Parts: sequence; structure tokens; C-alpha cells
Amino acid sequence: MKLVIDDTVLPVQLVRTDRRKTVSISLEDGAIRVLAPKRLSERRIQEIIDNKSNWIGKRLKDQATAPKIESKKFMDGETFSYLGKHYIFEIRRDIESSVKLKSGRLISTLGLTVSKREELDAHRVQVTNWYHERATDVLTQKTAQYGRALKLTPSAIRIKNYKARWGSCAISGEISYNWKIMMAPPRIIDYVVIHELSHLVHHNHSDKFWRQVGKSFPEYRECRTWLRNFGQTLMF
Ligand SMILES: [Zn+2]
Repeated sequence: MKLVIDDTVLPVQLVRTDRRKTVSISLEDGAIRVLAPKRLSERRIQEIIDNKSNWIGKRLKDQATAPKIESKKFMDGETFSYLGKHYIFEIRRDIESSVKLKSGRLISTLGLTVSKREELDAHRVQVTNWYHERATDVLTQKTAQYGRALKLTPSAIRIKNYKARWGSCAISGEISYNWKIMMAPPRIIDYVVIHELSHLVHHNHSDKFWRQVGKSFPEYRECRTWLRNFGQTLMF
């Protein structure tokens, strides 16, 4: 059995079962698998699959472009994202520990006193701290810059380690950002800053709030979509 999508012939794995009364189609790792009742004719099954070809084609495309999330092992050659650019991770040993960006590489140097057993944790901690520090600098500066333009001033700015949000704005006027946003391209960071600043005017996600965001950042919709699609890649 096969399915033709965009002139490409795709093999279909047909599994017959008596435990089903209807046909179900699943896509696993780009392969099409069809579960069908034993008595249903092949011609009828083929018809059902052909009718679903648009849907299958779209799902296959989505799967192929879905970003893969891998947790970092802090080994040479891995890539880390900073302000939307990719850097090759490099580990070094020297007298003192440090983290630096240099000619396309993110170099994490561990001091000589760090034992082999502690290495992975030590890299994770110091690289996280480095992102945290960069976040403090960049987000404080961007918040001040956009805040001046919009005549909005938060009572304080904090950098936090959120699991599933990019920022928040308390009723007290305190704005918090997730340090992981530092991995995103600059325009996405700008959007998050403007989003939180706009909460100083509207403490909700009402239409008024989105109009406020759109006034200072017309391309905000594209940034929201980007975060929805790629946000989960901004972590390690
Ligand atoms: Zn919000």
C-alpha cells in the first residue's frame, strides 16, 4: 500500500486488526501506519488514506521541521545559542574558572582544583551563571531604553529561572525575566521586554493590553509565534 504526496510515493504500513471498527492513521518517525478492521477492502482503505493526504502531508512536514530538544552534556562541540547565534562549546582547564565568548565559540574553562567527577556540574553551573549575568546586563539596559521611550518604569527588575514563562510583571511594578530568553534572537528579547513593560499599564492580556504592545512593537505577533514554536529549544 502506498500514498502519493507532492509526487513522492510514500510506503504505508497496513496493520489489520479485529479490535477496531474504523481506520486510524498514525505517523511515527515519518512513517505512515494504518490500523484497519480485517474485513475492510484494500480499495476502501486506500480511498480513506487518499482523502487524508493533505492532512498527512502537513503532519509529515511539521514533524520534519519540529525543533529537536536535547539536554546538553557540556561536551566539546555542542552548540549553545546566545542572542540567536550559535556558538560551539569548548571546554578548557586553566588556573582560574571562566566563561567567555570568543570567535564563534563559548569557552568554559574550569580551574585546576575542580575534580574530574565534578566537571559536568561545574560547567553547567558556571555557564548558567554566565547567562544569568548577561541577562542582568542586557535586560536591565533594554528595559531602561524602552521604558524611557514609553515613559514606563518598573519598580525593580529581577532575573529568574522560570520553567515555562519568559517574564512576569507584578502589581507592585516589579518585572522579572527568565534568563533563558538570552538564547533567543534580539527582536524576541525586545518583544518580551515590551510585553512586560506594557503590563505596567494593563495587568492582564486584554485587547487593550495587546493594542498597547502593538503600538510600540507592531511585529509582536510574529514574535509570539516564534516563542510558541521555538521557545522550548531555549534551554539546556
Ligand atoms: Zn503577559
